[in-house]
Amino acid sequence: MNTDQTIDNDIHILIVDDDPDVRNLLRKFVKMAGYNTSLVSSAEEALDLLKTKNFSVVLADIVLPGKNGLELTDLIKKDYDTDVLVITGYSKKYSYEDAVSKGASDIIFKPIRFKELILRLKKILKERYLTQERYSLIEKLKKLAITDGLTDLFNSRHFYSQLEVEIDRSNRYKPPLSLLLLDIDNFKIYNDTYGHLEGDKVLFRLSQIIKSCLRKMDSAYRYGGEEFTVILPETSGKEALNVAQRIRTTIEAEKLFPEPEKAVSITISIGVTEFYPKEEITGFIQRADKAMYMSKQTGRNRVSSIFTKEPYQP
Ligand code: GH3
Ligand code: MG
Ligand code: MG
Repeated sequence: MNTDQTIDNDIHILIVDDDPDVRNLLRKFVKMAGYNTSLVSSAEEALDLLKTKNFSVVLADIVLPGKNGLELTDLIKKDYDTDVLVITGYSKKYSYEDAVSKGASDIIFKPIRFKELILRLKKILKERYLTQERYSLIEKLKKLAITDGLTDLFNSRHFYSQLEVEIDRSNRYKPPLSLLLLDIDNFKIYNDTYGHLEGDKVLFRLSQIIKSCLRKMDSAYRYGGEEFTVILPETSGKEALNVAQRIRTTIEAEKLFPEPEKAVSITISIGVTEFYPKEEITGFIQRADKAMYMSKQTGRNRVSSIFTKEPYQP
């Protein structure tokens, strides 16, 4: 937000008035307040310009040839996140209510006084700024609520909700859906040998590798301490096996340096399974867990799968 008299390059004001004298006066005022300006003489020209250029505020006279300022306001509010400050003549033919009901942020009456115009403009810009701040804060909080702080993967809460979404989609439209469960091998030994902080770095690095092996529609989650899950929508068990092998071999090939000059490799065990229509989420996850456990039992650093449906027994 501009607080001094320099031009604020982020803020562009579009001035719409058919009278060249008023247009130029408005430009002078708005420029003096430190904002960029563009000038047009009709609503039609304003709508054309809005297609190619972003404006924070449109400053429009109500009485215009062709579409009037209120019609222009209506059209702007339908398609753009732009505020409109309308200007009306001395006759006061149009009221504040007329303007606001069309979506205008404020109204100003002729003859225009510099101080009043700038105060109203600044008030609109401040509200825009606060709305944007609030919006970006909400977005940040939303992201924080579904993200694991250490690995930057999604967290386990989001895993359950996304898996429900994908199960629902699979039940409705019948595409295959696969799930991977990954667990780092002998991670306790790594932590005990190199320290917890080095262990944390491994968790972060492996998370990056897992992400790098996925397609856009796939998603990876930190399921627990050193366990991860990957949801693979529209993916058969056979294709999921390939993804799992790709992750396993990439991680195995990665050199970690918990101490200078000391290259160490880490391995993971993976379980793969495919969703059966209408089955319970618990049974689906448990099958992936069982498959992962098979990998542990048969020597670690491998991928195992269970594709036969077993009834879920709590
Ligand atoms: P296995 O091959 O059977 O999976 O052996 P493991 O040692 O990986 O499994 P175990 O369940 O015995 O130990 C898991 C270890 O993961 C213990 C714990 O120190 C480590 N761990 C869990 N969460 C974190 C974490 O956030 N940071 C670090 N550094 N270590 C973690
Ligand atoms: Mg574990
Ligand atoms: Mg482990």
